[in-house]
Amino acid sequence: MTIWNKEISRFLYILALAVIIGWLSGSAAWALVTAFAVYLWLTYRFLRQLDHWLETNPNEPPPESWGIWGYLFDKIYHHQKRQQASQRRLMEVIDKVQRSSSALRDAVVMVDSHGNLEWWNNAAETMLGFRSPADKGQGLTNLLRDPRFIAYYDAQDYHEPLVLNSPMDDNLMLEYQITIFGRNERLILARNVTRLYRLEQMRKDFVANVSHELRTPLTVINGYLETFVDFSDQLPPRWSRATQQMQQQSRRMQNIINDLLLLSRLETTDIEGQQQHIDIAQMTQCIRQDALLLSGDKGHHIHLDLQTDIQIIGSENELRSAISNLVFNAVKYTSEGSTIHIRWFENSHGATLCVEDSGPGIDPRHLPRLTERFYRVDKGRSAETGGTGLGLAIVKHVLIRHNAKLEIKSELNQGSRFMCQFPIARLVWQQQETQNTKHTSPALADLANENSTKEKY
Ligand code: ADP
Repeated sequence: MTIWNKEISRFLYILALAVIIGWLSGSAAWALVTAFAVYLWLTYRFLRQLDHWLETNPNEPPPESWGIWGYLFDKIYHHQKRQQASQRRLMEVIDKVQRSSSALRDAVVMVDSHGNLEWWNNAAETMLGFRSPADKGQGLTNLLRDPRFIAYYDAQDYHEPLVLNSPMDDNLMLEYQITIFGRNERLILARNVTRLYRLEQMRKDFVANVSHELRTPLTVINGYLETFVDFSDQLPPRWSRATQQMQQQSRRMQNIINDLLLLSRLETTDIEGQQQHIDIAQMTQCIRQDALLLSGDKGHHIHLDLQTDIQIIGSENELRSAISNLVFNAVKYTSEGSTIHIRWFENSHGATLCVEDSGPGIDPRHLPRLTERFYRVDKGRSAETGGTGLGLAIVKHVLIRHNAKLEIKSELNQGSRFMCQFPIARLVWQQQETQNTKHTSPALADLANENSTKEKY
């Protein structure tokens, strides 16, 4: 029999006893009322005891009681004990996590949904300068005030980490990574990447210096070789072919050095000072003429489809270099008489420049690595065309500096399509241009800021 059935039986016994006593004493109604009153009083007493116990010391064993009340008191007591045990376990886990995070060399910071500091480890105190407990509840962006950090934090696009100097020490480079969890709370990790940053800096300096140092001797060698080739009729016949080949190779080296210098300029200089309104339609017309010259008697059909006269705010030289690379590649890597389409059009995301060819295409497995420096699909063919292997790396860097994206679609024997997608903030419409020639839009200023904060070392 369950405890509830037992309680009902007990209640019925009491009633039956009251009825018998009442019947014997000649007042059954009074006996029944008295029995109810006693039962109610007992219930009331146990409820008071329960309230008192819960109020004063619920961790102590419950007060003595019987029947259904004894059962309920025990049940509440055991439930409390179980809760306490799981709470203890949870606290232990939290404690362990906090202790292990405190021991981490990377700074870990937890920020609530209002952007206020909730918790941080010891490394956050040394690397970011947070003070415990004074800064608890302070707004994160009141403490980390670098505009680049604030722009990154507010943009909520945390796919790429952000590298910045530590607010405590300018020589310390920190890589911030932010993860959103729970109800818009954020976990911020700041890693010391000074060593990597310095190595990367050394790499950039090394490439720039070597390229720069090699340029002058190569120009001299090239100059002499040109003279030799000009006077090749006076040289022994065996030398004529050799000098021509030497000249070809030294020109190739010169092209590589020029591209390396351009890449290193793209990596190290700021685009801000070089921004103008660029007429892409006009630029592509000139590039088409150059491409026709490059094609020569190969007879490529180069079609220009200019659907808009929109202009781009950016660097003319850089954009010319990027677009020429794409169009010249289309000429270099397609066979005689192939068709090339250059399209310039607006869409909902901004404006797109598309260079599409009907050439041999590229196996999709090469596409993710195509913009790496010196990555070539077919080394032999690339050398034949005089390529440096740096063209698409230059295109990628130029587009990053213009907040644009490069999308490559290609399949073997299906041709290739290279699309440069420029964001709305970079566009200038003709009527806008006449009203406001030298004005840089506020959206662009934001974008440029965001771009500089996202730039990886
Ligand atoms: P390169 O100076 O060797 O042309 P790029 O960086 O411009 O270097 O191009 C990288 C590689 O991508 C090239 O070696 C070539 O194999 C491939 N490629 C580029 N454009 C095209 C194209 N339009 N069609 C086929 N392959 C291409």
